[in-house]
Amino acid sequence: MKPEAKKDVRTLSREALRDFFEKRGEPAFRGNQVYEWLWKKGAHSFEEMTNLSLAMRQELETEFAINHIQVDRMQRSSDGTIKNAVKLYDGLVVESVLIPTESRTTACVSSQVGCSLDCNFCATARLKRMRNLNPDEIYDQVLVIDRQSRLYFGRPLSNIVFMGMGEPLMNYPNVMKAIEKITSEEGLGLSPKRITVSTSGVPKMIRKMADEGPRFKLAVSLHSAVDATRTSIMPFNATFPLSDLKEAIRYWYGQTRSRVTYEYVVWEGINDKPADIEALTDFCKAAPCKVNLIQYNPIGDERFRQAPEATLERYVRALEGAGITVTVRRSRGVDIDAACGQLANKATG
Ligand code: SAH
Repeated sequence: MKPEAKKDVRTLSREALRDFFEKRGEPAFRGNQVYEWLWKKGAHSFEEMTNLSLAMRQELETEFAINHIQVDRMQRSSDGTIKNAVKLYDGLVVESVLIPTESRTTACVSSQVGCSLDCNFCATARLKRMRNLNPDEIYDQVLVIDRQSRLYFGRPLSNIVFMGMGEPLMNYPNVMKAIEKITSEEGLGLSPKRITVSTSGVPKMIRKMADEGPRFKLAVSLHSAVDATRTSIMPFNATFPLSDLKEAIRYWYGQTRSRVTYEYVVWEGINDKPADIEALTDFCKAAPCKVNLIQYNPIGDERFRQAPEATLERYVRALEGAGITVTVRRSRGVDIDAACGQLANKATG
């Protein structure tokens, strides 16, 4: 599909839409109506906007495009997880995942096409970054999953994690705009406390975000608290060493009083030694936090093998001994390549 030449109506603020109508001698509230159709009701065409006159709808049609995402392919896992390959207006594809549990539905959304970072254990990193997603492309993924949750599970979406493709802090303004829309009454009205932004840890951006007094949660993909090890698996760590990251996290806590979750995979021969456990326990003392030991989802690289249960238990014992909350998380949707780090547009090429 070719990119639309017409301006995307969803780049317009409510005020800009009101202006558009006023300039044409129409009442400004028509702008509110269109805004509501676009954001609250998720309209994909002007034709659907039935409280506007036909002439008005046609005028909008000649002036603007509505660059909606399209679910290109939907896959369902045996555990209920749903993976959507969504096509953007310019034909590029990202993935978003619906993760159901007994009581919640979590949307795992993408923030970039590909990723700016180079984590060796992540399938998305192999795609390289093609472009950042627009705020509405992020918002739309959430809307799609909210609809699927209502349809398949009879309840609305309850949580959102920015753990899909991309590094959210490398597309900061658009991610913030999307969150604003998701949490506003004009959008989904979801509480920010139910949103988690996950980052590989860009210290400067963590500080900037902390200054804006956010009410959502922060997760940091740590994976190692030893610089040499972390750099060997997440090369950008050479540019943003752990000491800077630690300071930024301290600053985040000081500003927000919200504790950070560390995501951490334990791999055989990489971070399974007592010194690795000690370094993590030490790192955790910087600011109140929680550790989430996540399962490794293979991406076909022999270097990375999930450490056995006994090693995880050693981690858990040491962390709990130091008074740190730790959870062990099992993967969801592995059979459809929908789990953490597996998003790489495999089904769609
Ligand atoms: N760029 C962001 C968000 C996307 S990754 C970040 O790094 O946080 C979401 C989570 O999946 C991160 O914690 C990441 O480290 C983890 N992850 C990546 N590849 C993985 C894999 N193969 N198995 C398990 N977790 C993986």
